[in-house]
Amino acid sequence: MNFRYSTLPWNIIFGVDSLQRLPVELKMLGRSRALVLTTPTQANIGQHVVEILQDSCVGLYDQAVMHVPAATASDASEVARSLNADCTVAIGGGSTTGLGKILALKADLDNIAIPTSYAGSEMTNIWGITDDGKKVIGRDDRVVPTLTIYDPVLTLSLPPKFAASSGLNAMAQEAVNVASLESNPIVNIMARDAVKALSKSLPRILEAPDDLDARELALYGACLAGGALGTGTTSLHHRLCHTFGGTFNTPHAETHTVLLAHSIAYNASAAKEGTAQLAEALGVDDAALGIYELARRLGAPTTLKQLGVLEADLDKAAAISVEAPISNPAPVTLERVRKLLDDAFHGRPPEIDKER
Ligand code: NAD
Repeated sequence: MNFRYSTLPWNIIFGVDSLQRLPVELKMLGRSRALVLTTPTQANIGQHVVEILQDSCVGLYDQAVMHVPAATASDASEVARSLNADCTVAIGGGSTTGLGKILALKADLDNIAIPTSYAGSEMTNIWGITDDGKKVIGRDDRVVPTLTIYDPVLTLSLPPKFAASSGLNAMAQEAVNVASLESNPIVNIMARDAVKALSKSLPRILEAPDDLDARELALYGACLAGGALGTGTTSLHHRLCHTFGGTFNTPHAETHTVLLAHSIAYNASAAKEGTAQLAEALGVDDAALGIYELARRLGAPTTLKQLGVLEADLDKAAAISVEAPISNPAPVTLERVRKLLDDAFHGRPPEIDKER
């Protein structure tokens, strides 16, 4: 067995009602001028955090949006500078966490993340910013949150349908790592446990949205999944998702949901062992079909068409996706990628690779 593993500077508090620890934790970090970040739709919960922090808070910036547009990043950075903030507290999904990460990078502000979806961004050193229709991403340990507080209570308001997509988005982080050529046994432990936690909890959430135990299990799965992405690898799947998100502005979690089964099928014969491990963690015979069926069962979108993609855009999307080299178990060819996109556009079941 050969592998290389290096961890990230994670600092995590997980548990029901852990949001209440924020003021004391902020003090322990030596910070007293927090700028709270959130999206317009979560302004209320942002305001709640402002109230919890009292004098340790200098303001609320509630304009976070998907994929961190460069203009939003400079606007938020200017607000932080004008208020003399000494840290950010990003409460929300991956869009808000992403803004906190960019401010850590560009304005050198400690970032505290309080995730309320299953994006898992808080566990990675990956930052992203979108300018002129193209998303640029990079890795830098400075964007890993100084502290992450996971409070499952905050996820109760996540609508079950979005919980399903968001959970399948999390599952992409681990699925890609298990079914990878550079499969790493330590990352795989996190990844497989995450698959189990998410595949068990998501159907329960759909059935009973107020089931706090199920919400807790899903958030735990998302934390592990983010950890697998943070210390593991990405491949064709993430390239495709970033192409659609950055160039066609499709919703992030749903894009992952639609493409994941097809991405797994694409690599199935090149990453046989990992794909089999994935199937085992899901409790199914075929990993790609298992993910496809799970998405259907959860009522998550299964076609690119549903996300507003036009059939006429598929050629362009395929070309952008293959324009730079990608590390991927199966060779990446324009023809196969175009076929994958066609299947995903129409929502056909993933094509079972006959070589297996
Ligand atoms: P999001 O953050 O855009 O959230 C979608 C909507 O749901 C927003 O309006 C948000 O305010 C709302 N929301 C979130 N949690 C809620 C809750 N508990 N209750 C009610 N509403 C809630 O979407 P997302 O899928 O969480 O994140 C997507 C973004 O994260 C993308 O920009 C993606 O690129 C990024 N991402 C980055 C990484 C990384 O490692 N850098 C990993 C995964 C995702």
